[in-house]
Amino acid sequence: TFRRSARAAAVELSEIVKISEAARTLKLEGKDVLSFGTGEPDFPTPAHVIDAAMAAAHAGETTYPPTQGTPALRSAIGKDSGFDVTLDQIIVCTGAKQVLSNALQATIDPGDEVIVPAPFWTSYSDMLQFSQAKQVTIPCGADAGFCLSPEQLEAAITDKTRWLMLNSPGNPTGAMYSADDLAGLAEILRTHPHVWILADEIYQHVSYLPFTSFRDAAPDLADRMLIVNGVSKAYAMTGWRLGWGIGPAELIKAMVAVQGQCTSGASSVSQAAALAALSGPQDLLATRLAEFKSRRDNVVAELNDMPCLKCPNPGGAFYVFPSCEGTFGKRTPKGETITSDADFCRYLLQEALVALVPGRAFGLPGHFRMSYAYSQTDLTQGLARIRRAVDALT
Ligand code: PLP
Repeated sequence: TFRRSARAAAVELSEIVKISEAARTLKLEGKDVLSFGTGEPDFPTPAHVIDAAMAAAHAGETTYPPTQGTPALRSAIGKDSGFDVTLDQIIVCTGAKQVLSNALQATIDPGDEVIVPAPFWTSYSDMLQFSQAKQVTIPCGADAGFCLSPEQLEAAITDKTRWLMLNSPGNPTGAMYSADDLAGLAEILRTHPHVWILADEIYQHVSYLPFTSFRDAAPDLADRMLIVNGVSKAYAMTGWRLGWGIGPAELIKAMVAVQGQCTSGASSVSQAAALAALSGPQDLLATRLAEFKSRRDNVVAELNDMPCLKCPNPGGAFYVFPSCEGTFGKRTPKGETITSDADFCRYLLQEALVALVPGRAFGLPGHFRMSYAYSQTDLTQGLARIRRAVDALT
């Protein structure tokens, strides 16, 4: 009989996938479900990027690529980052997700602690379980702007701490750490030289406030910092599976060794595509950012105008993370009482045909995540449905 390993059994099907599947089932039943569950830009990959990938394939870039990434792409990544880096400090992986996975597999021994501010991107939790790390979760609520304070960081550090995982702009809240916020955290980290910093900056180009990389806020900590980035969100290239890590050469070398036995490196054609994205025209970033900003403004204003919902204004990414605690204790038209974010999201899916993800999936119940990487038409219709459903509560 089939038996999963203990490590694999710890990894659950993500709540986001479960919601998407429930939405798909309703759609198959002929229901017109609007899903705001996933985080990928609704824009197409730029045409010049697709052309470059096709040209590379025709030119024979179809053999095993260098495990660490092509020198041309790593060089472009170095330039794009603005950091003072050499090619041995850069690894190209199959999406930012695999950068995180490689880093954890390369550094974690069972029981090592990793500090994760909550709410966090759900995959952090699963990846940490899979790598047998102990996740040390620090609640960072709406009152704190969903950001970790230096005091909280100091209190969480033990001699077993390996990493602080920080994501700015953040999924699921869109919260951003300012240069001052990062400087405050860096001050604590300087007194704990055994703690490394994993800064996930995949939403860098979807920032409505000035973006500061942790590496620029604390260049003196670069020798124990891994910056994670990629083309997925900025260039609408989620399916190309291409991300990168920038960090000290010894860490990158250990990650390359892991990657060499898992995937042999990112797809050669995707690497050519990413090279074109980074070295081609960049004006699309501003155009798309303006579109996301206008959607954000609209979604935040609409949600705050509904009874019982409170929606903070996010500084970046393409998610809002409103509180639905005001609906707790209220009854649906079918007579069910809402007592949790999961109840609220279930009600909205069943009765309003809108798919959202409950906050508990991200480690902060009482909220829900709505992605606004969807067309204005879908958003307008979805918001009208949410309003009707909330209005119907008594
Ligand atoms: N990091 C965060 C915070 C994300 O939200 C995501 C995607 O949802 C990723 C990393 C993964 O990015 P990629 O598609 O490059 O693997």
